[in-house]
Parts: sequence; structure tokens; C-alpha cells
Amino acid sequence: MEKVRLNKYLASIGIGSRREIDKMVEEKKIMVNGEYPSPGIKVNIKDKISVNGRLIGQTKEKKVYYLLNKPKKVISAVKDDRGRRTVIDFIKTKERIYPIGRLDYDTEGMIILTNDGDLYNKVIHPKGEVYKKYLIQAAGIIKKIDLGQLKAGIKLEDGLTLPAKVRFLREEGSTTWLTVSIREGRNRQVRRMMDAIGHRVISLTRVKIGTITMGDLEVGKYRALTKEEVKYLK
Ligand code: URA
Repeated sequence: MEKVRLNKYLASIGIGSRREIDKMVEEKKIMVNGEYPSPGIKVNIKDKISVNGRLIGQTKEKKVYYLLNKPKKVISAVKDDRGRRTVIDFIKTKERIYPIGRLDYDTEGMIILTNDGDLYNKVIHPKGEVYKKYLIQAAGIIKKIDLGQLKAGIKLEDGLTLPAKVRFLREEGSTTWLTVSIREGRNRQVRRMMDAIGHRVISLTRVKIGTITMGDLEVGKYRALTKEEVKYLK
């Protein structure tokens, strides 16, 4: 199971911002496996982490799983320092949920929210098997050779991307519609891949996570994941 930095891990499950978490480490409010951690420590779900004496992920709270069709101009985080709307604002629940992975502020589409830490690793593991499919409208008419490049892997500043599944859909005026499915979840990955082949993203929507689709869920609406969907993700 891949390990990530403690501040990133705890921020992703809504404990606070990375900076707040660094401060809590400094103030000895956080323990990892019974010891005060160094700031750069990497952890995963198997580590016993306590915040202010309370073990994370060990509560008996009911596990809940939601799928939101995120609108544009919404932050994929539990809270935003600048007061912008977050994905949490759309969901009515008493449980302390957080999003699994991120969509950019301007990206629309599927995002899963849960209080079940077990899902985190499978869905966002950079080399995981779960493909995420994006519907893209890109500037310009894309040549076959460039679609081939997306499929084969693109050299980005943080390394070569894994092979992607790519489907040309149609041309519309001086733009191209296509879908790209990737297994990694690097920061702004699809946008950067498209920039690398010279076709800026005009609109980006996540339409599928593994085998899970949105169906006719409207933008800004959510539904509970079915038992089968949760089983598939775990
Ligand atoms: N790739 C991006 O560039 N942005 C997203 O929001 C998701 C994947």
C-alpha cells in the first residue's frame, strides 16, 4: 500500500490544511504508531495515527459513500481557506466525509465522498487499476498521430505518463471531442497531457471511475453508491 506524506494524508481526510497539520506535528498533537513523528514521515491506512489523542479511522461511525456530479467552480476539499464552495457543501450528512481524490476547480463530473479510509488507496493509488475516464473538448483539430501519443504515454515534467485509453468522438467547429482514460491521478494530468500535444482543454468532465458511471445524475446532485459499487471499490 503506497505511503504518502502525513500532512497530505491527514489533509485529504479533512483533518485540516497541510500547514495546520505541520503545526500540529510541531505542537506534538499528532502521534504515529505511538511516537511523535518527524514532519516528513510517510504513512498509509495501516499506520495508527492519533490526533489530539483520538485514533483516526477507528471510530465506529457508520460508513457512507456518495457520488457527486461536481459542478465547475467548486473546490475538491473539505474546506477552503478562501471561502469558496466545496464538494462537501452539496451533501447532506452528519458523517464526516471527505472526497477521494480531486478534480480541478474548473473540472466537472464524478467525485466520490466517504468516511471510509479503505477506499482512499484503491481509488487514487497512482499505479492502481482503476481507470478514470474524462470527456474532453479540446481546442483545434487533433491529428491521429497526436491521439497515438496520448495513448502511448506523454513525457511530462514529472515523468512519462502510463498508457491511456483514447477515443476520438467528433470534431465540432475548430474543436475536438474525445475521451481519455487514465489510471494515474497526477495534478492536472489530463490538462497537462493535452497541453503537451498542443491542444488546450476547453472543458473537462470525469464521466467514469472504474466501472461506475453517473447515469443521469444532474450537475450538482449526488446519490449514494450501491452496495455493488462499494464492493467493487474495496
Ligand atoms: N486531470 C486534470 O487535468 N484535471 C482534473 O480535474 C482531473 C484530471
